[in-house]
Amino acid sequence: MTIALTAHDAKKELMVQFCIAYCGILSRHTLCATATTGKLVADATGLNIQRFLSGPQGGDQQIAAHISCDEIDLLLFFRDSLQEETPTPKDKNLLRLCDNYNIPVATNIATAEVLIHGLERGDLDWREIVKL
Ligand code: PGA
Repeated sequence: MTIALTAHDAKKELMVQFCIAYCGILSRHTLCATATTGKLVADATGLNIQRFLSGPQGGDQQIAAHISCDEIDLLLFFRDSLQEETPTPKDKNLLRLCDNYNIPVATNIATAEVLIHGLERGDLDWREIVKL
């Protein structure tokens, strides 16, 4: 499975902690991320992560493009919902594409934990079968 990671600044440390906690599971999958999120997670965990551009430079839109090409199976998008302008139009587009392409997406750590346990159990394997 290919898992995409991105986190707003206020949630980057949470993403790092999540990835440290689930490093064993994540290491068995292909990972990609926006630049800063990816660097922080890679530095903290040693995980191999393909890094796109930073979010403000279009990295989240690169994730969106990969979702549109059906190249991402799961998105962890920890957003700072305390910001008044959240969700931004870019955030909305990313979430809209997840709905369009039926991509499981977590915008908070509670949902991320449910999805990562589901991933480990094989609940998302149908996505691989559909691709064959
Ligand atoms: P970043 O992008 O990981 O490069 O910071 C995410 C964001 O837009 O905050």
